[in-house]
Amino acid sequence: MKLHEYQAKALLAKHGVPVPQGRVATTPDEAAAIAAELGGKVVVKAQAHTGGRGKGGGVKLANSADEARQAAADIIGMQLVTHQTGPSGLPVHSVLVEEQLDIERELYLSVVIDNSAGMPVVIASAAGGMDIEEVAANTPEQIHQARIDPTVGFQGFQARALAFATGLDGDLLRPATALITGLVRAFEASDGSLAEINPVVVTKDGKLVAADAKFNIDDNADFRQKELFEQRDRSQEDDREVEAQDAGLGNYVKLDGDIGCLVNGAGLAMATMDAIMFQGGAPANFLDIGTANSPEAVVAALKIIGADPDVKAVLVNIFGGLARTDIIAEGVVEAKRQGLIDQPTVVRLAGTNVEAGLKILDESGIELIRADGFAEAAQKAVQAAG
Ligand code: GDP
Ligand code: MN
Repeated sequence: MKLHEYQAKALLAKHGVPVPQGRVATTPDEAAAIAAELGGKVVVKAQAHTGGRGKGGGVKLANSADEARQAAADIIGMQLVTHQTGPSGLPVHSVLVEEQLDIERELYLSVVIDNSAGMPVVIASAAGGMDIEEVAANTPEQIHQARIDPTVGFQGFQARALAFATGLDGDLLRPATALITGLVRAFEASDGSLAEINPVVVTKDGKLVAADAKFNIDDNADFRQKELFEQRDRSQEDDREVEAQDAGLGNYVKLDGDIGCLVNGAGLAMATMDAIMFQGGAPANFLDIGTANSPEAVVAALKIIGADPDVKAVLVNIFGGLARTDIIAEGVVEAKRQGLIDQPTVVRLAGTNVEAGLKILDESGIELIRADGFAEAAQKAVQAAG
């Protein structure tokens, strides 16, 4: 789950990270009132689950309450398009109105999970305020890292080393180590999967402040991070992902290709994606129905997949263990009958009750592309998608 910047900053502040003064507003008048409270010179920032808001027109400087009202009027209600959102963008329902910072330097700081190391890693760079992917590609020597070994935890010397490496020495060393340590504490206490401050700002009067904040929380932690999960903003999430979650249909993930995939189990999902890519195609999404064992669940799942306008062909790839392939087959036939998937549909069933499953497909009289093997299924799906 992603937090908005204002939510992330409140969380960081709780862990001792200095953030600018400010509040969130949902109307231009509210934004003007906050700006007046802050003395007029403010920055008005679109609250949407994306980075790159600055370049997309979602971050505006204002020098008076009236300018702040105007900036908020421009931003609230907009569909914010950035390099991270895709062409349809994200709706903006609120703005964060904050005191303007006098920027001397911008740095980058984050904590992410390093899957290959099997532990979180703190990343710091003196090249802040820009895309960290670009920095990593063009000037990798500007990226500094420290792994957090869970058996001993994040160490003070690691924070100091990162501070020194990014030029935060002298009077800035203490506040820098405090800020880095605070970010790590917030990440650990909240079951974070990503926490990023880009930029950390050194102000002209020598203060260190988190000018931006991005925070993602591990969805598996919802049972023990209730307070944070109450802040979830569904308007920022893919409609079909939300629909799948609400229907208890396991995991729906939107991707950018053109083959819709109904699978069961995370391993089979990954292998199916790989097989499609190997055949020169690309998945539009996948829905992992897990052990869903009713035709209705399969119909609901295929409805979600079929409604994705990017889907040119559907691949049903099910290995029946606990899931029964005859029930899956009934669901596929029913979804076709109801016209929920009008795209060409490749079906590959294996495992529990497969004879019964295939018989249901055969006797349905519905046009389906059958495949026995994995590679064959992927290849036929790629072909069907054109
Ligand atoms: P993002 O584009 O979504 O990452 O949004 P940011 O919050 O990082 O804002 C983008 C850029 O706007 C920052 O890198 C800064 O250069 C600028 N910016 C943000 N807040 C302030 C501020 O208080 N004062 C000034 N002068 N610039 C700011
Ligand atoms: Mn930023």
